[in-house]
Amino acid sequence: MEIQRPIDIEACSTWLEIDLGAIKNNLNLLTKLTGRPVMPVVKANAYGHGLIEVSKAAVEAGVDWLGVARIEEALALRAAGVACKILVLGYTPPRRVGAAVQEGISLTVYDKAVAQTYADEAVQAGGSVKVHVKVDSGMGRLGVFPQNAVEFVRWLKGQRGLDVEAVFTHFARADEPKYDTTDGQIEKFDGALSQLKKEGIKPKLVHAANSAGSLNYPAGRYDLVRCGIAMYGLPPSPDTPLPEGFMPALSWKTHLVSLKTLPPGHGVSYNFQYFTKKDERIGAIAIGYADGFRRRAGNFVLVRGKRVPVVGAVCMDQCMVQLDDVPEAHIQDEVVLIGRQGNEMISADDLARDWGTINYEVLCGLADRVPRIYIK
Ligand SMILES: *Cc1c(COP(=O)(O)O)cnc(C)c1O
Repeated sequence: MEIQRPIDIEACSTWLEIDLGAIKNNLNLLTKLTGRPVMPVVKANAYGHGLIEVSKAAVEAGVDWLGVARIEEALALRAAGVACKILVLGYTPPRRVGAAVQEGISLTVYDKAVAQTYADEAVQAGGSVKVHVKVDSGMGRLGVFPQNAVEFVRWLKGQRGLDVEAVFTHFARADEPKYDTTDGQIEKFDGALSQLKKEGIKPKLVHAANSAGSLNYPAGRYDLVRCGIAMYGLPPSPDTPLPEGFMPALSWKTHLVSLKTLPPGHGVSYNFQYFTKKDERIGAIAIGYADGFRRRAGNFVLVRGKRVPVVGAVCMDQCMVQLDDVPEAHIQDEVVLIGRQGNEMISADDLARDWGTINYEVLCGLADRVPRIYIK
């Protein structure tokens, strides 16, 4: 959703504040820490932060590559005038290959039959499509097995319409450094790379590490690192905290839109999952499960710098908060769902822990209808 500028938060029921300075800061830190160029991963609307704005900020910060999950995301970037190299990390339907040729978008390949259709489509489009060969070194998702890499790459190189640009892999457990899985994946991937070398095949580009891999495994950095979550200023997992200096880029806010005292024994919200025990100050805030909040008990938000409980069922567009501890609360006050207010802070990690999920899912769950406001 586009928002008018200059931005007037009083004009928003709920909004996300995205600090593009934090994104650039985190990118710089990742570049320094790894000593490698960073490919920011901007799939899923840049983890909810906004595909176009985040990508433009990353390009301003000097990146050459962007990573997306789907060709639709890559085409949206081109339509917005983003001209850097773009890699589609997931599957691309063959009928989109013509567009990839035209727009200079790199695709992932790992299956001969599918790659053959890519070659045919590219030739038909009058060009060739750049491809990155995915090796499955242990993730069990996309990719040819390391022992089949040489044969596959040799075959790809023989196809008119295909231009092999890179070889890459993906780590399954880089955020759990207590396991030796990633060392094993690096070893298998290195095995495939040296096999290729023996055959005289030197890929122009080799990449493997996600954020956790970039932080925990120097041997997995190769020619560039593909970072998503760390660029947004959040840790890949509780086992992989971010080093000093990273800044979360996203805050989520709303307004207190109702404030009144309910008498004792009054039900609150659908199905009366909460009853007042005495006179209670009950507020309503303008966010609900349709915005990406969760319809579960035990949520908290910040009002006037204090953590207050959400009471009763979370509705689609609203929910209620118990404000007895915040007598100074006033209707139309700003309320924080993710971010800082006074000395208190709720992080996407806090919500993830409370909701039994990971910070990635909290961010990706933030609905499109919530306007994004960008701070430079
Ligand atoms: C999503 C993704 C990444 C980025 O992962 P983060 O953990 O957010 O850094 C990197 N590579 C691939 C293939 C991905 O799908």
